[in-house]
Amino acid sequence: MSSVGTVTAVLQSLAPQSWYRSHQAGSALANDTLKPQAERPEKTLGEKLRPLITSFVENDLKYEPRPPRDTTALWKAADEYASQTGVPREAGSRSAKIFQTGVMYAACCVPRHPVDVQVYVVMYSWLGLLLDDSAAEHEDDLGRPAAADLHVLGRGPANFIVTASLNFLNSNLLQTGAAFRGIAATAAANGNAGNPNNSGRSWARYVREKDGGGDAVAYFTFPKAMYPNQEEYLECIPDLARYINLANDVLSFYKEERAGENDNFISQMAMYEDKDKIAVVEDLIEDVAQAVERIRATIKGKEPYTSAVEDHILGYVAFHKLSPRYQLAEVGLGEETLKVVPK
Ligand SMILES: [Mg+2]
Repeated sequence: MSSVGTVTAVLQSLAPQSWYRSHQAGSALANDTLKPQAERPEKTLGEKLRPLITSFVENDLKYEPRPPRDTTALWKAADEYASQTGVPREAGSRSAKIFQTGVMYAACCVPRHPVDVQVYVVMYSWLGLLLDDSAAEHEDDLGRPAAADLHVLGRGPANFIVTASLNFLNSNLLQTGAAFRGIAATAAANGNAGNPNNSGRSWARYVREKDGGGDAVAYFTFPKAMYPNQEEYLECIPDLARYINLANDVLSFYKEERAGENDNFISQMAMYEDKDKIAVVEDLIEDVAQAVERIRATIKGKEPYTSAVEDHILGYVAFHKLSPRYQLAEVGLGEETLKVVPK
């Protein structure tokens, strides 16, 4: 839940400056506003995001609701596997909630994969998100997926997944340290004057490519038993990785803004490009839409590869809409959460 301080920060970053100044000054406009100030920013954020995200998923991605199939077998197998890891997952804990998010991810995004491969995807998502949320506490856990059953993906993809995982781990750890925060603080303090031609922004892109884990997740689309011909899909991997990272930035922006996050990619680009965050969301939507066009062009007419990619692209939207983690139901962008995982 947002604290008063967080709400204020959201207000400052998102409300039109004229509106904000008028509230600060207690002007006639402020007095005419019926909504209490504390309620206004969340509504404003939702009002701004709803048309952007609706157009993104419906017009650019051609998304239609696609609830996952029965996930009972997946849940059971993933639960058994996770229980053997020793990673805490008590009922009601943050870890247990993130585990459910991992099951949702596999159910939505790789629905045709054999259960053992889906379990691998659950494990990777669970441990990855645990680390993403609290890198310092889970330093030891991320090595586990790299050591798991990578052979199901084939040697080349498996090696890329290992290196992507090390990049993910390393960049998440870096972000907990003083050096990373120091760069952002210095850049924010200097503004554009100390940042000619927005020259620091390559750093933000570099970190996002690594901390998003998109490379690894893109390869999960193609376990070799089902998709043996790498030449059919390798060209779409870079744009699929880009989609995984940047579509998450768009679709998790509401949750992250509500939590007062100021070190995510959208916040960094807003700072480097001297734009408001909503303008960066619009830029990312355009960027992602073009990436998806390229993906669809490279994979067209190559069944079953085409369907695997579409499952991942559209399932990824469903995953964000269905998962309570992303809070999209609060702004009219969620879908009814079916019983994807047992309570
Ligand atoms: Mg995010």
